[in-house]
Amino acid sequence: MYNRSMKNLFGLNINELEDYFLSINEKKFKASQVFEWIYDKKIYDIELFSNIKKEIREKLKEDFNLEFIKIKKVEVGSLVRKYLFELLDGNFIEAVLMEHDYGLSVCISSEVGCNMGCRFCESGRLKRVRVLDTYEMVEQIILIENDIKKKIQSVVIMGIGEPFDNYDNVINFVKIINHPKSLAIGARHITISTCGIVPKIEEFSNLPLQINLALSLHAPSDEIRNKIMPINKVYNISKVMQAIKEYINKTNRRVTIEYVMLKGVNDSIDNARSLAKLLHGLNVYVNLIPYNETKNIEYEKSDNILNFKNELLKLGINVTVRKEFGSGISAACGQLRSKEV
Ligand code: SAH
Repeated sequence: MYNRSMKNLFGLNINELEDYFLSINEKKFKASQVFEWIYDKKIYDIELFSNIKKEIREKLKEDFNLEFIKIKKVEVGSLVRKYLFELLDGNFIEAVLMEHDYGLSVCISSEVGCNMGCRFCESGRLKRVRVLDTYEMVEQIILIENDIKKKIQSVVIMGIGEPFDNYDNVINFVKIINHPKSLAIGARHITISTCGIVPKIEEFSNLPLQINLALSLHAPSDEIRNKIMPINKVYNISKVMQAIKEYINKTNRRVTIEYVMLKGVNDSIDNARSLAKLLHGLNVYVNLIPYNETKNIEYEKSDNILNFKNELLKLGINVTVRKEFGSGISAACGQLRSKEV
C-alpha cells in the first residue's frame, strides 16, 4: 500500500505509485508515465511531465520530491571507479562501478555503517548510523549511469551494510530497479549478499523474484566462524546452512558461498576438506575472496588460495576465485567506508 511518509519519487515501486494515483482518483497508468519521465527520459522536474495535466502535477509536487544524493568524489582505478556519495543528511556512503568482460556492474551500499562487526571488514568499523532509504539505493545507480553515460547490467548489494538488516527497503529497491519501465536490471543480474540472518533468508525464500543470494560463510566450523563473525553466535553454521538448504529447495536456485581467504585462519587444506563436507550435495558454488588488507593488521592475505581451490575441485565442489578489483583505490570488498577522507 502507498504510504504517505515516502517522499522521494525514486523510493516508490510501480505498485505503490499506482496506488497513489488511485488514491487521488486518477488512472493507474499514470504511474508508468511517471516512471518513463524519471527513468527513461531522465527528467527530474515534475513540472516538465507534459503528458500529466497541470493540476495533477501540482498534487505530485506537494506529495513528492526528486532530490538527489550527491557525488562527492570519484576515484578512478583500473576497470573500476569508486563513488563517494553525500546523503541529504550529511552522511556518507560508497559504491563501486566495475567493468567486467560481460558488462558493467555496480556494488552498492545498503546502510550507513554496519552492526555486524565482522572482524576483517573495514566497512563495519563505523557502527550502523541508519539504514538507507530505498531512493538512496536507487539513486546510487542512476547517478553512476548518468555520470558514465552507459547502462549498468548488474547490481550486487555488497557495499557498506548488511542488506538483510534493511530488508524491506532493499527488497523494494530490487523491485524498482528490476521493473521494465525503470532501470530494467534483470533479476538474475541482481545479487544480495548476507552474513546469514536466518529469519530473513527464510523470508527471502518465499519472494517471487529470481534474484541471486550469496552467503558470507567464510569458515567451515563454528569454532573459526565465531572468531571472525559475531553473527555466528546468533545464527551458527548449522542454522544458517539449514536455511540455505530450504532456500535452495524452495527456489531451485544456486547459492553463492563467499569465503574470504585469511592466512592461517581458515585457509588450510583441512579447512577445505571440512568445507567440502559441509557443502556436499548442495546446489552451491564457492567464491573464494582474496583478502583485501585494511588498516586492521590482525589479518593477512592467504597464500594458499590455489591449493585450497584445487582441493575443493578435487572433492567435487564448484569453485571460483573472485577477481580482484579496486584495491589500489581502497574500493575492494571490505574496504568501503562511511566517511569522507
Ligand atoms: N553484509 C554483507 C555484504 C558485505 S561485503 C555480507 O556480509 O555478505 C561483501 C563481501 O566482502 C562479504 O562476503 C564480506 O565478508 C567480504 N569482505 C569484507 N571485508 C573483506 C576484506 N577485507 N577482504 C575481502 N573480502 C571482504
